[in-house]
Amino acid sequence: MEKNLICVVCPVGCRMKVTGTPEDLKVEGNLCDKGITYAYDEITNPLRMVCTTAKITGGIHSVIPVRTDKPIPDKYKLEVVKEVNKLTLTSPIKMGDIIIENVFETGVNIVAERNM
Ligand code: SF4
Repeated sequence: MEKNLICVVCPVGCRMKVTGTPEDLKVEGNLCDKGITYAYDEITNPLRMVCTTAKITGGIHSVIPVRTDKPIPDKYKLEVVKEVNKLTLTSPIKMGDIIIENVFETGVNIVAERNM
């Protein structure tokens, strides 16, 4: 396996070449060990924040921005958006309110990004 990754852990953004297997990963181009951890996670279980909008009634807009409260496994990314699309929320909603708790049993919540 060979993969080029950009480490997003800090603003330096090291360009890394990753080869080998998860058990014997070789990482080049990283300026610190955090790059190795990032590369390992990207290869074995990539995580992503998901930001989208949910329908809402009674607010000043017809949709409200929502997001995961922490990164979720990449494989759930589209499923989370589909799940949010099924909802129609009712105002008032406060920033940080949990819209979906423990989505897909991942321990990740979907929360509102603003008051409405
Ligand atoms: S490898 Fe270290 S220095 Fe480079 S982007 Fe990642 S955290 Fe920053």
